[in-house]
Amino acid sequence: IDFGFTQIPKQEKEKRVADVFHSVADKYDVMNDLMSFGIHRLWKKITIEYSGIRQGQKVLDLAGGTGDLTAKFSQLVGDDGLVILADINDSMLEVGREKLRDKGLFKNIEYVQANAEALPFADNSFDCITISFGLRNVTNKDQALKSMWRVLKPGGRLLILEFSKPEYKLLNKAYDLYSFTMLPLMGKIVANDADSYRYLAESIRMHPDQLKLKNMMELAGFKDVQYHNMTGGIVALHLGFKF
Ligand code: SAM
Repeated sequence: IDFGFTQIPKQEKEKRVADVFHSVADKYDVMNDLMSFGIHRLWKKITIEYSGIRQGQKVLDLAGGTGDLTAKFSQLVGDDGLVILADINDSMLEVGREKLRDKGLFKNIEYVQANAEALPFADNSFDCITISFGLRNVTNKDQALKSMWRVLKPGGRLLILEFSKPEYKLLNKAYDLYSFTMLPLMGKIVANDADSYRYLAESIRMHPDQLKLKNMMELAGFKDVQYHNMTGGIVALHLGFKF
């Protein structure tokens, strides 16, 4: 199935991604819980465990959206640390900021509207960068990975949590069926927006698989790159270091 979202020019893809996230921002959290049966919380919890983040450190939660990871990091780094939630989309940033403020989290969090392909930060700024369910939306992923490498401190680590390729054929088939039928249907019912969720299914399918992404990270300069499959490879967490 090809919904025609992939062979489109760069500017058009960027516009479509922007439209999708402007449209879903309000319903994003509830849809996340519904579509993943709540499992995205576990995937994110595991990501936090691999981050090794300590008090006083500086974290970039890139494509941070509504701030699930930022909320956890904000508690871990404490008052001496800093978490920057960066996202290209102001609707997502707005929903994220409101949500975190409601939770009483604001002291050590900053919000920056930025494109992952050209990060507006100095070289060697962060102890850790996370990009969770964000990289597949970025048009030039190689450029984004280089930009992340540049702003990471030597000794720092990058964590990429993203949909990947299921390890078993049957799971792959079931998952394809689920994403191309149920996601748009749920999008229609809950958010009155089937197209955005069709885009989501398509972007998941086109995203580089585990080995390809590992390769791309190595090409961008990351060392000791490894990945951990979760839920049979539906999702993978990639980890890489800057030395
Ligand atoms: N990280 C959050 C999470 O795991 O729930 C949000 C993920 S959401 C599926 C993807 C986010 O990536 C959206 O908020 C979108 O605006 C952002 N995004 C898309 N393209 C981007 C880019 N080029 N640079 C930065 N953020 C981008």
